Amino acid sequence: MRIILFGPPGVGKGTQAKILSTKLHIPHISTGDLLRDAVNSGTELGKKAKAIMDAGQLISDYIMIGIIRDVLQTPKCSNGFILDGFPRTVPQAEALSLLMLELKLRFDAVIIMEIDHEEVVKRLSSRLSCKGCGTIYNLLLDSLKSSSSCQKCGGELILRDDDKPETIRKRLDVYVRSTSPVKEYYYRAGVLKTISAEGSIDDVTDSIVLLLNSKHV
Ligand code: AMP
Repeated sequence: MRIILFGPPGVGKGTQAKILSTKLHIPHISTGDLLRDAVNSGTELGKKAKAIMDAGQLISDYIMIGIIRDVLQTPKCSNGFILDGFPRTVPQAEALSLLMLELKLRFDAVIIMEIDHEEVVKRLSSRLSCKGCGTIYNLLLDSLKSSSSCQKCGGELILRDDDKPETIRKRLDVYVRSTSPVKEYYYRAGVLKTISAEGSIDDVTDSIVLLLNSKHV
């Protein structure tokens, strides 16, 4: 199955993509994770990307399209994939359509997860991730203090630089300006499915699975 999960930062795309990846046995391709890996390994891309990401802005379409073009042609993606965080602009969506055409593939579902933007600020500013293994915790849901360490590997729990409230608001502005037109792009193509991401993690997973199992996807 080939799926695009799309929606504002903090809507839970990453969480749902990981769950679906396990359920459907297809890789979760998160452009945010790929960029953070590049930052952590200190590559040229990572050095360029860090300041842009910390400011809540978008990396250039040219770079992002190149990354996706390479990843989608790796063997691990041959049986399908879940895209999380790409496309984020109309030129990225157009380039992806061309690439899919070139690879003779089609998407089974383009799903937009919707949520109230104030809920996003609340969710993201209470999200901590482990510096060691990347496990994500939420101060509102998990019984943790901001000084706790990772329950899996004992690593340090940190607030991502781009999850600080002022940066979250900037990321939401960027989403409305650059990414909302992507919604319009897929809506016009007649392939967009909308689900509410306001419920619990399990509720949202159930909605997505229901949608994927429906004949109309
Ligand atoms: P995410 O983890 O998806 O919220 O991405 C974190 C940051 O990585 C974003 O705020 C952008 O700076 C950058 N990024 C991730 N995906 C893209 C993309 N498709 N286009 C441009 N920038 C991106």
